[in-house]
Order: sequence, then C-alpha cells, then structure tokens
Amino acid sequence: MAAPLPIAPDSADPTFDELLAARPALSWHAHDGLLVEDVPLARIAAEFGTPTWVYSAGTLRRRYRALKAALEGAGLNAGIHYATKANDNQAVLRVLRAEGAGADIVSAGELRATMAAGIPAGATVFSGVGKTPEEIRFALGHGIYQLNAESVEEIDMISAIAAEMGVLAPVSLRVNPDVDARTHAKITTGKAENKFGIAFDDAMPLYARMAALPGIRPIGIATHIGSQITDGMSAYRAAYARLAEMIQALRSRGLPVERVDCGGGLGIPYRDEVAPTPEALAGAIKATLGGLGIPVMLEPGRWLVGPAGVLLASVVLQKQGSLHGSGGRRFLVLDAAMNDLIRPAMYEAWHGILPVSPLARAARLSPADIVGPVCESGDTFAKGRLMPSMAPGDLVAFLDAGAYGAVMSSTYNARPLAAEVLVDGARAALVRVRQTHEDLLAHQRLPEWLAG
Ligand SMILES: *Cc1c(COP(=O)(O)O)cnc(C)c1O
Repeated sequence: MAAPLPIAPDSADPTFDELLAARPALSWHAHDGLLVEDVPLARIAAEFGTPTWVYSAGTLRRRYRALKAALEGAGLNAGIHYATKANDNQAVLRVLRAEGAGADIVSAGELRATMAAGIPAGATVFSGVGKTPEEIRFALGHGIYQLNAESVEEIDMISAIAAEMGVLAPVSLRVNPDVDARTHAKITTGKAENKFGIAFDDAMPLYARMAALPGIRPIGIATHIGSQITDGMSAYRAAYARLAEMIQALRSRGLPVERVDCGGGLGIPYRDEVAPTPEALAGAIKATLGGLGIPVMLEPGRWLVGPAGVLLASVVLQKQGSLHGSGGRRFLVLDAAMNDLIRPAMYEAWHGILPVSPLARAARLSPADIVGPVCESGDTFAKGRLMPSMAPGDLVAFLDAGAYGAVMSSTYNARPLAAEVLVDGARAALVRVRQTHEDLLAHQRLPEWLAG
C-alpha cells in the first residue's frame, strides 16, 4: 500500500452519483447494484456473459418523443430520419420505427437493415459521398424517399441509372456550408476542406443543371455539419441561414425546392458538456428555415441512441504497475477492449465508467487506468479514473455507449464481436448473439496448395 499516486485524479470528473442522476434509465439498487430500467446488469452478465452491449428501449422511446415534441412545439413540420449508422441493431430500429422514425442510411447494407426492421425505403434518405452504381440502383428499385447527392459526378451517375431504369430519382443536394461545428476533427464534416457535400458556390448552378437532367427530380437542399456538436447553436444557425438564403435564390429562379434536410449532429453530455437541447435545435431551425413554408427533415443518430446503451464488461484482473516500470499506476484490465468500443482510442472520447456491484458505492476510490487486453497502448479507456479496488469478475458499465459503439467494433486480436441485449422495463432479451471463434474462422479459405 502507500504507493504514491503519480497521477492526480482529475477532479473535474463527475462523481458516480452525478453520472447516475443525469441518466434516468440507470439506478442503483442496494442489493442488485446497477440497473438498466428494471433489470440488474449483474443478471445480464450472468445470463449472457461479457462484454455485452445493453440497450434501453424506454430511453430510445423517451428521447424520440422528446425530440418530436420539441419540433412540434416549435410549430415545425418535421420528419425524423434516424441515422442508422449510429446503431443498426434490428431491435433498436424496430423500437424507433414503432415511434414513427424514418431512416438515414449510408450504404445498401443499411438499407437492407432498415427495410428488414420495417422502415420502408419510402421513408429513408440515402446519404454518403461514395454510393456505388449498384447501391443507387438498389435504392431506386425500392423507391427510396431521397438521395442526397454530394458531387456533380454522382449526379451524372444517378441520372444515367435512373433514366436507364425508367424512374425519376428524388435528389437533394448536400451542400457544404463551410461552417466550423467546433467538434472533434474526425467528426467535423461541414468545413470547405472536408470531403463532404458540394461547395456552397457550386450548389446553385448545379441545382439548375440537375433540373435539366433526365431521370432526376430535384427536391431539396441538405446539409450535415458534423457530429457531437455541443458548442451551442451558432454553427447550426450559420449553416441553416445559408441554406435558407440558397433556397430563396433557387426559388427566385423558378427552381422547385420541396424540402430541406437539416442533418444530424446534436451532441450529448458524455462527461460534463453542456449539450444543446432539442428545443434549442428546433428554435434554430424555426428561426432560419421556418419562414420558407416547406417541411424540414432531421437525421439524428447519436442523440437518440447514445444515452440508451451501456457496454457491460468484466474485470479480468487488477494489475499494480511496478514503481520502477509504470510508476505505481493501477491498471484495471477488462474483458472489453478497443475492438469493442473504439471511441476513446479514435476520438479521445470520455465515457463514464460505473462499477456494477452494490458494494462499490461505499468503497474507497483511487485512480486507475482502465484498459483492455488488446496489444496496443491505445487500448486505454480511461486514465487516472477514480475507481474502487476491483477483483476478477467484478463488473463495470461504460455509459452512453449506444451510438458508434457496437457498429464500430472489429474482431482485432481475433476477438469475437460482443453480444447485444435489449432491456424493456423488466424484460431483457438477446438481440445479437455473441460471435464464436468458429464464426471468426468460418469465412477464411486456404488455397489448395497450402491445405495439405
Ligand atoms: C453520421 C450522420 C448523421 C448522424 O450524425 P449524429 O451525430 O449521430 O447525429 C446524420 N446525417 C449524416 C449525413 C451523417 O453522415
């Protein structure tokens, strides 16, 4: 004991109680420990193993309804098209569909997933900078609601495919408004230097050109300026004001604009960020685009599903680093790793990490580095995090892991993809079977000259 603490704990971190208080689906039970809705996470670990993603259906519904109410409260005629890439689990899609959600997709695979979950292509927007001809054909064949075109080259491709199919493709132009959403560089998308969208000054002539092409029905303007936007409404307002200006100019030239797609990006508080509310977003849309008298669309991903998920993991062991080698650090080595939740390694993301045991709440806390077993120093979830002493088999939950969690997993280090479980009130059900080692090998083939 008495090893000096080499890293001062970051006192700005929220406490366990503060993390819980801000997350209504989570609660502590004196006997059962941490619960998602009415289901103890310890029970889920016992039944389904770890690591496991756990989603709260109640949270999905509550957030969808809050967003819808904010849009309606502002008097907007707005469609919500859930950005499937944030979490494409069938059960999650079904819960959101039952609330009335359409979809925003970025691949034919996502279109298959959303259609399988009962979201018709006719309620789905196809975004993305590199749709292949096969994907465009597939989407048009199923009657896609809207294709968001991102380049002149893509528009020509859509025109040729639609004309050949004898259909009229509903196309919106994704405009890059050149605003800085002031989010992480890897998820900012609306600056001129980003690969996304059509430069603002090119959009007007391109829209006119599109109207003259065969196979295309120009229907609107779209934008998406970035993800995890927590810096107030100024970037949104600037982008939407530019869209409004453009729509008015298009109309004055007699070009029809039926709808405007405001994209996604609304941020959530992972740590102590003051995230904008859906009411603030609705207000910004109303103030900038509300006077145009056309329906608006939103493509929220993270805001809807992020807070609805946790990643449940077990402690493999607690390792005390040598005073000489690693300076007396304490490491909590988990059975989850960067291949499961890559956000900390990829975006320097902070996730709340709560012990699940009912005893942990009263325990003395000291700093620990929380790491996975993958052979990369980047496989570090948190440094100097205040945690109790933990034993092999003890459970922890990563909070706000419902978005860009399971969907970004890989099998690096030949680690099977984790299971996924949906909680709905007192019920819990497996919604994705854990991969097996056999699954990992099943798609590999040996050339005959090596098979011997
Ligand atoms: C990723 C993405 C979204 C969703 O972003 P969130 O930050 O998860 O809300 C919406 N629209 C497009 C075009 C996207 O690429």
